Amino acid sequence: MENSTLPENENIDETFTNEVESFESLGLIPEVLEAVHAAGYETPSPIQAKAIPALLQGKNLLGTAQTGTGKTAAFALPLLSRIEFNARETSLLVLTPTRELSIQVAEAIQQYAMKLPKVHVVPVYGGQDISVQFKALKRSANVIVATPGRLIDHLKRGSITLDKVQAVVLDEADEMLDMGFMEDVETILSKIPENAQRALFSATMPKEVLEIIDEHLGEYSEARIEGKTTTVENIRQRFLLVKSHDKMEALARVIEGEDFDGMLIFVRTKQATSEVSERLEARGFNVAPLSGDLAQTLRERTINRLKMGKLDIVVATDVAARGIDVDRITHVVNYDIPYDTESYVHRIGRTGRAGRSGNAILFITPRERRLLKTIEKATRQPIEAMALPSAEQISAKRIANFQKKIQDKLTHADLSKFREILMKTTVELGSDIEEVAAAALCLAQEREPLFPKMETLSTPKVRDHGDSGKDDDTAEKPRKERKEGANGVEEGYLRYYLAVGRRDHVSPRDIVGAIAGEADISSAIIGRIKLFDKFSTVELPDNTDQSVLDILSEMTIRGNDAKFRLMTDDAPPPKDRGFKGKKKFSKEKRPWSKEKPFREAHGDKPFRKTRRFGRF
Ligand code: AMP
Repeated sequence: MENSTLPENENIDETFTNEVESFESLGLIPEVLEAVHAAGYETPSPIQAKAIPALLQGKNLLGTAQTGTGKTAAFALPLLSRIEFNARETSLLVLTPTRELSIQVAEAIQQYAMKLPKVHVVPVYGGQDISVQFKALKRSANVIVATPGRLIDHLKRGSITLDKVQAVVLDEADEMLDMGFMEDVETILSKIPENAQRALFSATMPKEVLEIIDEHLGEYSEARIEGKTTTVENIRQRFLLVKSHDKMEALARVIEGEDFDGMLIFVRTKQATSEVSERLEARGFNVAPLSGDLAQTLRERTINRLKMGKLDIVVATDVAARGIDVDRITHVVNYDIPYDTESYVHRIGRTGRAGRSGNAILFITPRERRLLKTIEKATRQPIEAMALPSAEQISAKRIANFQKKIQDKLTHADLSKFREILMKTTVELGSDIEEVAAAALCLAQEREPLFPKMETLSTPKVRDHGDSGKDDDTAEKPRKERKEGANGVEEGYLRYYLAVGRRDHVSPRDIVGAIAGEADISSAIIGRIKLFDKFSTVELPDNTDQSVLDILSEMTIRGNDAKFRLMTDDAPPPKDRGFKGKKKFSKEKRPWSKEKPFREAHGDKPFRKTRRFGRF
């Protein structure tokens, strides 16, 4: 593992005081440490440094942390180290709000368990054929990473039992409860053995989360990332919202679009330093990696080359870049977001040195939007949104550079032989001298076209699953009021029937949570929901994919089969699910085809609960 301190030299900033622990000092078992090394992690993130020792001691834990802080490893590494896994038992249960997160967390845990061959991790989420999950569960499921609704389903069917669980983790508890999973979570927790270790991670602490903590966490330790405030006045801070798979392309364009002298690019792992550096080099940039994998002398040489202007760009991990003090660095790019505000401030402090002004650019993927707000709060400065430079802007810069090079040759190079070729070609081809010069320019720019064709990178969806940026003011705004069609359904929408209602203690939140979670769709597109005593209706866009509808037809809500299906005038809800005493509905009286809910229209106790969910 990387030794975390560089020996003193002129490039080290002595004021850097952040304590850097190593993974070795935390007490993880060797198999898990091996996986950590293989993942290329250099040092524990702050939440890991705080959570790992507590969980290793068997304590319950409350972690205040959001996505991107390294919280998955913060609970997975110590629990994998501590738990005695037995062949067929489910010993670790992780609850996540969305299907995407459960897949992602399961993959991460499987990666951390790569040297523990007996440990099988199974993600269990709505939207996947349940029989596929039965098979996986039958084989062996030592670790289950589940969304609450589907887990309840399995518990009812007996395909999962929780009586041997040694530790349970609630991941993104605020999101989970916000999606209406409160009761499901309580039901699940009531089935976990009393003495099981418990951990709860949440970015915010709303009332429901506090209730769960009160009732189910027992005595616990806390791991919180302090949001110290610092000012960085001489640094212009910008962020770029970008999809993960577009990051490399975006980086290349940012580098071309910015006027910079020296640039420091931060990534998370040692592997990423070489990957990003190699890919930039292939695109013609003057770049080198800097990580703990490199010998000390090589690291110093790289920093010196950057200092002397022999190198323009360095791609570094936090540890390797600690204390770098190079005045020439005009730009810091956070290609991978830092885990916390403190390391953000340290990173960007590598620019704007010696009283100069600097630039900090932060790449943010949709899932990481919350961290942006946290950073803004801590630095007490807004971070401006930036747009990628357009093909025209890049073209203008390339032309300007090209002209500079021509100017340089005009002043310094001996051009006599080239002038001879030009004259000769002009005569032989019978062309105009301007035409020949233009053709020569055209040839000269082939490797780096002066008029590049650039694909437009799509703007990320604001609400990707796992994105917790719902209170972000740049997040998607609530939908506009929609027009209502003749049948009382919003234009462009169809109404669907659900065999659960108030008597099943179902709320609109439960319905949104179930639909968004099961089908992995944005809650913003879910239309009006009407709750009746024994059933409910929900409106969905009329272009909703059949595959989504198929998934929803198997959905359960609060453990009840929702019997989701399209409502048409020809397909009334089953009688036993309809209104008491009404055997048959005339067309006007059919509740699903009326503008007003049936009860309201008929003077029965009025009840209409319609909510719009567009705030994510
Ligand atoms: P999470 O907050 O769990 O979603 O993790 C965010 C990202 O950070 C994931 O891509 C992890 O692989 C990565 N990560 C977690 N811990 C570390 C670490 N100590 N060093 C470098 N990367 C890490």
